[in-house]
Amino acid sequence: MIDAMDIQITKVERSKINEVDFNNLPFGRYFTDHMLEVDYADGEWKTAEIKPYQPLLLEPSLAALHYGQAIFEGIKAYRNKDGHAYIFRPYDNFKRFNISAERMQMPAVPEEIFIEGLRRLIQVDKNWMPNKEDYSLYIRPIMFATDTSIGVKPSDTYKFIILLSPTGPYYAAPMRIYVEEKYTRAAPGGVGFAKNAGNYGGSLKAAADAKARGYDQVLWTDSTEHKWLQEVGTMNVFFIFGNKAVTPSLEEGTILEGVTRDSAITVLKEMGLTVEERKINIDEVIDGYKKGTLSELFGTGTAATISPIKELRYKDFVMQFETEKWKISPTLKKLLTDIREGRKEDKHGWMVKV
Ligand SMILES: *Cc1c(COP(=O)(O)O)cnc(C)c1O
Repeated sequence: MIDAMDIQITKVERSKINEVDFNNLPFGRYFTDHMLEVDYADGEWKTAEIKPYQPLLLEPSLAALHYGQAIFEGIKAYRNKDGHAYIFRPYDNFKRFNISAERMQMPAVPEEIFIEGLRRLIQVDKNWMPNKEDYSLYIRPIMFATDTSIGVKPSDTYKFIILLSPTGPYYAAPMRIYVEEKYTRAAPGGVGFAKNAGNYGGSLKAAADAKARGYDQVLWTDSTEHKWLQEVGTMNVFFIFGNKAVTPSLEEGTILEGVTRDSAITVLKEMGLTVEERKINIDEVIDGYKKGTLSELFGTGTAATISPIKELRYKDFVMQFETEKWKISPTLKKLLTDIREGRKEDKHGWMVKV
């Protein structure tokens, strides 16, 4: 295993930071001056390098492009009010990355590379860390198969890369959501719990069909009855009934275990709500809507934190919500944001100093 001290650093001759307008940062558009790159071969991870962000030279026979051994993560780092950079729960993403790797028959990435490499990369590109409220540095680790042979088998070689992208405030506009009954994102025994590239390619058609009907995204349902609720687009989903929050449980392996989901569960409990992780179907949601007990519903994820749902459509039945009157999810969002940006005490040790 490599030591953090072994990371080779080659810096850019001239930073491109002045070419980026920090007042206009569309999500995922700009990348910092450097990236971390590590190759896996002969059963071991080679020396990690931090080098100028640059194109990769790859052969068309690259295994990842043919059979999809490719996984990723999404993490955010914030500048605290004391000026220091902190990463939000990176160990949770590190663990999840290796769970995805195992499912896709890829090697585990050691903590020294994932966490130490990430910290060193942020140190090198620290000027890119926005210094404004609600701004952050989005972190994108990826790993993919690099064998140049088109037999279907786990690759013997891989590349692990971390990219950094400065991002501005993400206004989570209330969403209009279509309950999906035709397409399936994840089935028991499948790969729904893994953050592998193919899950996202496979979801684009459903999202496009929902858009054509005037909706922003789909609410995924189970693969057999199309009644049991899974996730909203690429976010976990929560339903608030009175003083109770319900979110789909993880045991079937059809749901991505979101770090924001886990943080929301913790903070909702601290707010005095009861949180139930269990199966929930669309009939219960419709019943709650008709009785007036369903008060709020929202998605959770690193990019937008909390995204309210203002309209939910199941077949011809349309449920509408006055999101501007909601109390619980705006409070949850503010508490999470305040912890991440250092305005509120970090009781759970979620913030890791760079
Ligand atoms: C990444 C992701 C989430 C959210 O996970 P976070 O760790 O909260 O960002 C939820 N669902 C899917 C399908 C995802 O890919």
